[in-house]
Amino acid sequence: MALMDIVIYPDAPLKEEASQVVRFGGDLHRLVADMLETMESSCGVGLAAPQVGVRQQVLVLCEPEGEPLCLVNPEIVEMDGKAYEEEGCLSLPDLYAPVPRATHIRVRAQDIEGNMLDFEAHDFLARVIQHEYDHLQGKLFIDRLDALTRDAVISEWEEIRARIDARVSLAD
Ligand code: ZN
Repeated sequence: MALMDIVIYPDAPLKEEASQVVRFGGDLHRLVADMLETMESSCGVGLAAPQVGVRQQVLVLCEPEGEPLCLVNPEIVEMDGKAYEEEGCLSLPDLYAPVPRATHIRVRAQDIEGNMLDFEAHDFLARVIQHEYDHLQGKLFIDRLDALTRDAVISEWEEIRARIDARVSLAD
């Protein structure tokens, strides 16, 4: 297993649609193992393949008190309810904003072996799945904000990004 570098906004893989996975072999298993290790070492609750530069419909997430979950080719087929909760993203470190999301969803996906999954998720887990699913469509949580909040959050992000770039150039 290996840690992967996380792509930071606004780099390209974050803004593109990911492709469907058609092969469920060793390469996918290695990718998922590396993504799980990367998510855990970054203290994230979810990670989508485009965030590690892989344009494929794969995501991993932590169930609050369960095993980590891997979803391949996920689709959200039903959505209900709406709530605002603070969200952050490993690709936008240190940035947080309240994001509107459905509180109940139904998901169809495949597991790492290609078996079909069909399940409902609520509240926190539903939110994490919607956030990670958005990454597969080239969307970020800041794209879900109203225009005014988004502008404020983007200018905050520009300051954070300048600090990250300064740290990187010091390390060089
Ligand atoms: Zn994210």
